[in-house]
Amino acid sequence: MPLDVRKIYKSYDNAPLLKGVSFSVDSGETVCLLGRSGSGKSTLLRIIAGLEQPESGTVLWDGVDLLNTPVHERGFSLMFQDYALFPHRSVEQNVAFGLRMQNLPADTIHSRTMEMLELVHMADFARRRVTDLSGGEQQRIALARALAPRPKLLMLDEPLGALDRTLKQSLLDELRRIIRKANIPVIYVTHDQEEAFSIADRLIMLNAGEIEQIGAPEDVYRHPGSLWVAGFLGLGNVLSGSVVSPSNRTVSVSGCIVNMPECKPLPEAGGRVNLLLLPDVPGLKIHRECDAPDPGQPGLNLHGTVSESVFLEGKYRLTVQTNTHTLQFVSQARFNSGDKVTIHYPSEEVQCL
Ligand code: ADP
Ligand code: MG
Repeated sequence: MPLDVRKIYKSYDNAPLLKGVSFSVDSGETVCLLGRSGSGKSTLLRIIAGLEQPESGTVLWDGVDLLNTPVHERGFSLMFQDYALFPHRSVEQNVAFGLRMQNLPADTIHSRTMEMLELVHMADFARRRVTDLSGGEQQRIALARALAPRPKLLMLDEPLGALDRTLKQSLLDELRRIIRKANIPVIYVTHDQEEAFSIADRLIMLNAGEIEQIGAPEDVYRHPGSLWVAGFLGLGNVLSGSVVSPSNRTVSVSGCIVNMPECKPLPEAGGRVNLLLLPDVPGLKIHRECDAPDPGQPGLNLHGTVSESVFLEGKYRLTVQTNTHTLQFVSQARFNSGDKVTIHYPSEEVQCL
């Protein structure tokens, strides 16, 4: 892998922030580093860029340790969350900045600058002052500036963080197009899982100074490795079960005995486990109470009342209140608030966290 981040430790004021963070990024790959605000994401980017030194651990590029390579010789670009544009310079001068630092001939600088402005659809703004641009336009200029020197690695620190929700979606599509076209490895930092899902080849989940899970977005979503990852991704259907027999993999939950599929080893009989139900899985059936099948049907049968039904992208997102939990499921069929329902959740889809 071109970029290899190995066992990075960093603390501030004796409080550990990064506790042995390791991951790598492949050529042309976009990874999203996801974690809550304050989890050390920006610090990690600054360490990779060379703006900050780790206490221990290394950053390698094509197998070469960069510890003693200064920032400007690493050939990486970091786009800061606040864009850090030069306010007194024009759009063109901002984009040309990195190219000037490389002492390239003036005509090369000009053509490359214009090429970058075309790429972000801002060529008509070349002579404007950056202070006369909207937030979304400034974001494009910051991106053009970061890409102009043809970096080996692009790092984007919450690139859409400062923008409002409606602007985000269109800029995200744009950003994806530009990143794919540049075909360089990208580390994209965000605390917004929807943003990460729509842009990442792989997700890197950072929590409490450690990486809890790395994987393709669909794998992380379908099989979150921990309670924290599930919660962060908004997967809140977590039930507490009690192990009946670890060898038979049976767990008692909400009055049902569920045969757990192979996953983590279960604790001994009587031990508690957290069971995750995804909102939309094959074999999930939701019945109105009067049409409910025999109560003896194997699997997990939950009884509850629909407290909310929202029509979204051709399906209904239901909130169902059981005796003990508030759960969310996706249904093809319409249900109304107040409907009493039985949810049949197939045992083979139950996961333990
Ligand atoms: P994130 O980008 O995930 O929000 P940061 O990397 O910006 O997190 O910061 C994580 C924590 O480290 C914060 O609590 C911040 O106050 C602290 N921190 C970051 N930089 C410094 C610094 N130079 N000196 C002291 N504390 C810092
Ligand atoms: Mg940050």
